[in-house]
Amino acid sequence: MTQETAPVPLVDPFARPITYLRVSVTDRCDFRCTYCMSEHMQFLPKKELLTLEELDRLCSAFIHLGVRKLRVTGGEPLVRRGIMTFFEAMSRHLDDGRLDELTLTTNGSQMRRFAGTLADLGVRRVNISLDTLDDEKFARITRWGRLSQVLDGIDAAREAGMRVKINTVALKGFNDDELFRLVEWAAGADHDLTFIEVMPMGDIGNEDRLDQYWPLKDLRAQLETRYTVIDTPERSGGPARYVRLEETGQKIGFITPLTHNFCESCNRVRLTCTGELFMCLGQEDRADLRAVLRANPDDDAPLVAAIREAIRHKPKGHDFDYSRQTVRGRVSRHMSHTGG
Ligand code: SAM
Ligand code: SF4
Repeated sequence: MTQETAPVPLVDPFARPITYLRVSVTDRCDFRCTYCMSEHMQFLPKKELLTLEELDRLCSAFIHLGVRKLRVTGGEPLVRRGIMTFFEAMSRHLDDGRLDELTLTTNGSQMRRFAGTLADLGVRRVNISLDTLDDEKFARITRWGRLSQVLDGIDAAREAGMRVKINTVALKGFNDDELFRLVEWAAGADHDLTFIEVMPMGDIGNEDRLDQYWPLKDLRAQLETRYTVIDTPERSGGPARYVRLEETGQKIGFITPLTHNFCESCNRVRLTCTGELFMCLGQEDRADLRAVLRANPDDDAPLVAAIREAIRHKPKGHDFDYSRQTVRGRVSRHMSHTGG
């Protein structure tokens, strides 16, 4: 394979270095969370998906161009057959110092099976999604999931030595009554906890997202009735902001993707499981890297050129908006396609 010897790192037109790649390795999932997928979700034909070798080639190209953090997501990344081969391939970049962090976002259902291997391959931290600690509610929101299996997966990750961050989608009328229980559980188990505002992605059937929308400023106000909430300056280049609860010392993240307050420091791009590169979570502009990859099986120069060209189109900011009770800037693709 040809590779630039000392490539110029990726920097977008607004002088933001692109150091973080999220890659969705499958659109499939063993759950059907109501805010993410419809019950009868149509998945992509297999030939549309990048093979594990193609994923390796593409991610490696980004790493050679300066990406230092890779997050593997989906769909559910751990249901993709052979996915440990891909983690193993990526771990060579940890070994040679090109990559600082290899991580994943998962629903946790398969964690018991894979935690040891992931830890051995250099995964130090994992984000596990969990919206409720109630068995019946868990079954309702995921449609197909079992809470006990996910809690066991979380234990497995910790036993393997990984740090766990819990991702909780804030849903009005669903988990607003569990706020303190979730916070106390995370503190007791020493897991980080991040709340995510629900986003208008994809067609999910007849769920009404405006009904579910629980603004994190309201969630924070509820937290403040019991805790002293202290803002911290920590930034990750993405939409997360962090606070510390004085009484417990724990860190809580707030992801409000609908606000614009992070675009100026955005360091990330997203690659779908079909090889489309999205430069912004909130916009449809994309580049088809799969076509370039498949047209040039033995030469990475056109791929590198296509990546550079795509980054030249990274927009300054996005345009989600829940105001006036309509969802403007609605994005038709599913989170499971782009990766959360
Ligand atoms: N299956 C894995 C999981 O659930 O963690 C990884 C993919 S999932 C799409 C990534 C994250 O996106 C999860 O934390 C999930 O809760 C979140 N998510 C999915 N649909 C969402 C939506 N419409 N709004 C906000 N977050 C969403
Ligand atoms: Fe699957 Fe994750 Fe979407 Fe739930 S949020 S349906 S676990 S991809």
